[in-house]
Amino acid sequence: MDVVIAGGGMVGLTLGRLLRARGVEPVIIERMPEGAYVPRGYMLGFQGYEPLKEIGVLDEVWPAGREIAPQGTSAVAVCVDVGTVLHSLARDLPVMYGHSMTEMIFGPDGRVTGVVVEGPDGEVTIPSDLVVACDGVRSRTRDMAGMEAVFDRLPEGELSWMSGTPSETSFSMAYMRDGGHIGHLSWPEGSGGWRSCRRVGAEEALAPGLDAIKEMWARLLPDSRLGVEGLESIEQVRYSEPELLTTREWWRPGIVLIGDSAHFFGPETGISSGIGLGDAHALSEAIAQNRGDADAACRSYVIWRAPVVRPYEAMDPGRQRILVAGREPEPGPGEAWPPSD
Ligand SMILES: Cc1cc2nc3c(=O)[nH]c(=O)nc-3n(C[C@H](O)[C@H](O)[C@H](O)COP(=O)(O)OP(=O)(O)OC[C@H]3O[C@@H](n4cnc5c(N)ncnc54)[C@H](O)[C@@H]3O)c2cc1C
Repeated sequence: MDVVIAGGGMVGLTLGRLLRARGVEPVIIERMPEGAYVPRGYMLGFQGYEPLKEIGVLDEVWPAGREIAPQGTSAVAVCVDVGTVLHSLARDLPVMYGHSMTEMIFGPDGRVTGVVVEGPDGEVTIPSDLVVACDGVRSRTRDMAGMEAVFDRLPEGELSWMSGTPSETSFSMAYMRDGGHIGHLSWPEGSGGWRSCRRVGAEEALAPGLDAIKEMWARLLPDSRLGVEGLESIEQVRYSEPELLTTREWWRPGIVLIGDSAHFFGPETGISSGIGLGDAHALSEAIAQNRGDADAACRSYVIWRAPVVRPYEAMDPGRQRILVAGREPEPGPGEAWPPSD
């Protein structure tokens, strides 16, 4: 089967390795240069262990991380520099770096039969039996195929930070009186934190200044104190307005969506990549069991995967909060952000 993987992020690279282990040689297209990635606080949840174990990546990244809730020789999750995971996945894997998916080719019956990618030497057409969209939440591949994405904007904003100082513990999280949440992660080289806040825009959310943000974080979440005190500039603090994503159909003839192109979960779940890695595992196996028939592989993939992924989507705490948003619950003393006068 000629498989094109659109997007060489965590899920696309993992799928590439899993397919090669099953004797399928995919073409992987990644728009960024080799080795480039966006640094972020990252926690690998247990849902992603099996696929990474199979390709030898888990054993490599585990010692480089900090365990969350260790249980014997395992843990519920491991906090690790995301670059360590991506570099380990990419090592010796053939990827067309610096190439972007720009067009999708359809047969007369509407089936996706290939893609056009643009790179430093111009356009290249790549025929395919199956295109796997691994190009993230804003997937262009999904849009080019005309597959609907349903975004749900959370009623809250999010404040997040990243510093180069590890915190006291690898993880802590607390819920506030209004249902909002605050948490932190720490890996051996740094820490990151996030909290829900009023959806007021970046200017207003950051206006209280760095010292006020540090004081609030250390007070509400004492285990994050060392990490948050390591912040040197307000530039290391970010305001965003999170959205959840779901897609009702995961495949059409010649194309399948996996990872963040298919679903994105709320900020406090910490499961998006683990679920995406599980998607890659299931799809690689479905392809291996249906080598001559991409549609049968996709059908089989959905049968395996929907009972795993759909309940996570339905139970996402972000969605539960969407349901109660009309109630306007009050924050507890000292919890509101930005602070009310
Ligand atoms: C700030 C932040 C914190 C997060 N923290 C966690 C966490 O703690 N735990 C967790 O499990 N998950 C976390 N996630 C989610 C996690 O990062 C993703 O689930 C994970 O990276 C897998 O995504 P993916 O490979 O499907 O997509 P992405 O990581 O988005 O990768 C998509 C890739 O496709 C490439 N691409 C895009 N468009 C094109 C195109 N047209 N042509 C070619 N290439 C293209 C991109 O350059 C990118 O490399 C976090 C996400 C963010 C943004």
